[in-house]
Amino acid sequence: MKVAVASGKGGTGKTIISTALALAWGRTALLDCDVEAPNAHLLIRPEITGREIVTRLVPRVEEELCTHCGLCAEFCRYHALAVLPKRWMVFDELCHSCGGCQIVCPTDAIVESSRPLGELVTGHRDELLFVQGILNNGETQPVPVIREVLGRSPEDRDVVIDSPPGASCSMLTVAAAADIVLLAAEPTPFGFHDLKMAVRAIRELGRPMAVVINRSDWGDGSVRRFCDDEHLPVLLEIPHLREVAEGYTRALPLTQSAPHLTPDLIRLRAKLQALITEAAA
Ligand code: SF4
Ligand code: SF4
Repeated sequence: MKVAVASGKGGTGKTIISTALALAWGRTALLDCDVEAPNAHLLIRPEITGREIVTRLVPRVEEELCTHCGLCAEFCRYHALAVLPKRWMVFDELCHSCGGCQIVCPTDAIVESSRPLGELVTGHRDELLFVQGILNNGETQPVPVIREVLGRSPEDRDVVIDSPPGASCSMLTVAAAADIVLLAAEPTPFGFHDLKMAVRAIRELGRPMAVVINRSDWGDGSVRRFCDDEHLPVLLEIPHLREVAEGYTRALPLTQSAPHLTPDLIRLRAKLQALITEAAA
C-alpha cells in the first residue's frame, strides 16, 4: 500500500501525521517528497547511509555546427532558448529536459549536458526505510527530484509518502503514484479553502481520498461538514494537544509525544486498505 499524505497548505500537520504513520506501522518506508522543504528527518532521525546527486539534462550547442536558424527556439514551448544572430542562449531554469530541441535541430548542433538539481538521501531507523529528496536552492523544478524519490519506493512493505503541500503539480505527481491520498486538514478558514482546492485537484486524478482533521477542536465545524457533503471519509480527528505541540518543538514524533494515539494510527492502516479495495472494486 502506498499512501500519500498531502494537504491543501503547509502547516496542517502533514509531516507529523506521515512520520507517525510510518513509525506506528513498523516495517514501512517513508519517502519525503516535500523536496522544497523536507523536514521528516527531524522527526524520524534516521541513520543516513547514502547520498546521491540528482541531475537533469539541459541542452548545450556546438557553436561551429549552429547555423542560427532558430528552429530550436521556435520549438521550445517553455521559452528556454534564445537564438540571436551571433549567440545562442539556454535558460536552464526554464528547460524541462524534453529533448525536443535536439531532435528538431537540422545540423545536430545540440548536445545534452548534465546539471545538478538536488540530492537524494537514504537511510533507516530500525526497520523503517527512509528516502528524502532535496531540491537545490534556486532551482524551480521539483518534479524530477520527486520522481527520483518515488523511484526508490520498495515493493515489499507499506510506503508512506510525505507529499508537497498545495494543489501543485508536485503534489499531483505524488498523488498519481499513490494508492490513496490522505489529506491532513485543519479547521481554519485558510485550511478549509485550500483543502477544497486539493480535493478538486486529486479528484481529477481519480485517486481515492480520506481525511485526518488535525486540531479538530478548532473552528466552526465547516471542514467536517464539507467532508460529509463530499463523502470524504474522516479517518481520524486529532484535537489540539499541548503535549503534541511541545513534542514538535523538541522534534519528537507523535508516537512519542502522544503515545495514546498510536492504536488509532495503527487502526488507520486497515481503514485505508479497505478504502483502496473499495475503490478498486
Ligand atoms: S536548431 Fe540547431 S542550428 Fe538551428 S539555431 Fe538551434 S542549434 Fe542552431
Ligand atoms: S530540452 Fe525541451 S524544454 Fe529544454 S530547451 Fe530543449 S526544447 Fe526547451
